[in-house]
Amino acid sequence: MIVNTLKLAKEKSISITGEEKWLEQIYSLYPSPEKVPAPKLKALVRLQPTDYGFINVNANIEYEPFIVCDRCNNQFKWPIKRTLELIFQKPKKLDKKGEIDLQASDLDQYFIDQNGTINLEELINEQIVLAVPSQTRCQKCTSIPKGQLVHSEKSNHNDSPFAALAELKDKLKKH
Ligand SMILES: [Zn+2]
Repeated sequence: MIVNTLKLAKEKSISITGEEKWLEQIYSLYPSPEKVPAPKLKALVRLQPTDYGFINVNANIEYEPFIVCDRCNNQFKWPIKRTLELIFQKPKKLDKKGEIDLQASDLDQYFIDQNGTINLEELINEQIVLAVPSQTRCQKCTSIPKGQLVHSEKSNHNDSPFAALAELKDKLKKH
């Protein structure tokens, strides 16, 4: 979803209902269990142009996707609620080679694109991906103290990778 800031004379509110076609990309990353309807992402984004050429962006994003537990593979809901207050700066000028020279300090900053647009789809997708932890544990698995993991129902075999390898070799022999 691209917003043209050049035509933005006054504050603009954009309501995202969850039915937008471009959300399918983020929905596909967090599929729901069978027969469970896909949770919808909802957001309210306010864009406010300033006299200095930058745009204040204020966004409330709510989404409760299903994520998969790293340990037991169960799907569970992960509620995400984010409030963003961002400043989109004027586009960076292109250098002689037609490239943008980004400084390290630019990495945390947001820029309006060269053609005067802000890509809300990119912004929202990024926020969701950042809000999902890289290591996921469902509640059941977080409540098991580390030392007991080996003895829980799912992993009654030895957890070491060598043991898993040995087990696999064993299985192959039997066939
Ligand atoms: Zn789990």
